[in-house]
Amino acid sequence: MDQSFRDSVATIDNKGGRNYIFPKKPKGNLYNKRTFASILYLIIFFGLPFIKIHGEPMFMINVLKRKFILFGQIFGPQDFFIFALGMLTFMVFIILFTVVFGRVFCGWACPQTIFMEMVFRKIEYWIEGDYTKQRQLKEMPWNGFKIRKRVLKIVVFYLISFIIANFFMAYLISMDEVLRYIREGISSHFGTFLTLIGFSTVFFFVFYWFREQVCIVVCPYGRLQGVLLDKNSIVVAYDYVRGEPRGKIKKDVTEIQGDCIECAACVRVCPTGIDIRNGTQLECVNCTACIDACDEIMVSVKRPTGLIRFASENNVAKGEKPKFNARIIAYSFVLLALISALGFMLASRDDVDVTLLRTAGTVYQTLPDGRIANIYNAKLANKTHEDIPLTLKLENIEGELEVVGKVIIVEKEGYKNATFIVKVAQKEIKQRKTPIRISVYQENVKIRTLSTTFMGPVE
Ligand code: SF4
Ligand code: SF4
Repeated sequence: MDQSFRDSVATIDNKGGRNYIFPKKPKGNLYNKRTFASILYLIIFFGLPFIKIHGEPMFMINVLKRKFILFGQIFGPQDFFIFALGMLTFMVFIILFTVVFGRVFCGWACPQTIFMEMVFRKIEYWIEGDYTKQRQLKEMPWNGFKIRKRVLKIVVFYLISFIIANFFMAYLISMDEVLRYIREGISSHFGTFLTLIGFSTVFFFVFYWFREQVCIVVCPYGRLQGVLLDKNSIVVAYDYVRGEPRGKIKKDVTEIQGDCIECAACVRVCPTGIDIRNGTQLECVNCTACIDACDEIMVSVKRPTGLIRFASENNVAKGEKPKFNARIIAYSFVLLALISALGFMLASRDDVDVTLLRTAGTVYQTLPDGRIANIYNAKLANKTHEDIPLTLKLENIEGELEVVGKVIIVEKEGYKNATFIVKVAQKEIKQRKTPIRISVYQENVKIRTLSTTFMGPVE
């Protein structure tokens, strides 16, 4: 089979310039389902920043303040291991999902595709018309009609990009903050406003001009397909066994012909400009527009639908049903182990994190009453939405623990540095470094015990 189509991408011409794709407006069963899924997706995307738990956003990824809220649970830098394990689990899940279901995520759940195909592309069809009208508009010389269309498109695209940027910002700093900035005006938050304009411009550039190239040349996930997919992976596939030899329907032709009537309807609707009949390609985002287009043709020529469908290479070539192979089983075990470890870490996660350190530069002091004193520093992080009063107690040695300022109150979602002194009678000290244990109590409930050492002179 001629593989020369793999030497170039449809969006770049021979001189390296931008080859603009004008896909035909898709329609059909899968497109309707995709529209429905996208509406749900958009409701969730625009609705989530408004949902609060205990007065805090349900989701927030504040990179600058290093504060992350997922499903109302607060995570901070001290949760790095959970974050790293979560990322690893997510990556293995993506790999497993891709091995089994190919790139279906790209067409049905990726924000880039959802916004491009279900928001911006629909608006483009509304402003400029279907693909033939869009091509005519591009090729016609500049005149009042073309300027009006282009200006309208730029204004609408930028406005929507600006709205998306505001919501994107809400995921970073919370919707309350965004609304506060809006109330207080641009002059009070000029730096943030410039950031917002920056985000809006990037989104505008992506959806107005760069488009499908995000999936083809930028997205690392797309480029991984070559190593993730195998002959059992379910992808959008052309059934060449049934379709070939392809040929246009002609009267009085008796030679045996495949089901593909070479109408190119599947090529016309493709948003990445490829011909799926060439086989699985990096550019295919599994949007399923070609399935709808081909099914419509098959119905019109009274042949069975599914010439292009979700299928594996083995399904097309040998009629095999999808099956679990060693790779899928191995990935599943790794994923299960990671999910278990992550679940355990999340379940055993404390509301308060405590780190204990001896105060830098101090060893011990002999007090006027003869007791020996050591000074310690405790770093406390409160991961809840309420202030937490804490008390510290010495566990394994007779002595006194004196907190500077008596009670330690760690403010909600806050951090606190507390200094305390441990005083022990000389007779209790049997070695230069005596192991001691200090417990942290929240309303008389022990929440953590920490080990450290007590320095003192040995008699
Ligand atoms: S080949 Fe089909 S599924 Fe793949 S991107 Fe093109 S239209 Fe979408
Ligand atoms: S839409 Fe179907 S029949 Fe038409 S060219 Fe594509 S595969 Fe062949």
